[in-house]
Amino acid sequence: MTTIKTTCSRCGDIHLTPDDVSLELRPGGREGDYHFRCPTCTIRQRRPANSRVVSVLLATGVHFEVINPDPITEREIEVFAAALESEPDPLRLLAG
Ligand SMILES: [Zn+2]
Repeated sequence: MTTIKTTCSRCGDIHLTPDDVSLELRPGGREGDYHFRCPTCTIRQRRPANSRVVSVLLATGVHFEVINPDPITEREIEVFAAALESEPDPLRLLAG
């Protein structure tokens, strides 16, 4: 069984199985955060995962999902800002 070594803020070094860990990847998939529940003290914790950690976790088969905290792109904001500037009555846009 693959074990993942990490540290708990209370317990110090701990070993987790892939089932204990879930990984949240930022769009692009190279970095993100992983979270786990310490098997000793049961505190849930979250840690940043750089690209190396992400590839190690994925290689061990942890569950992952791609999160998208900001679904609005800069391009969409630019289009909206341009629309506001060319709109004599911006509130009309908000009214739909
Ligand atoms: Zn612990």
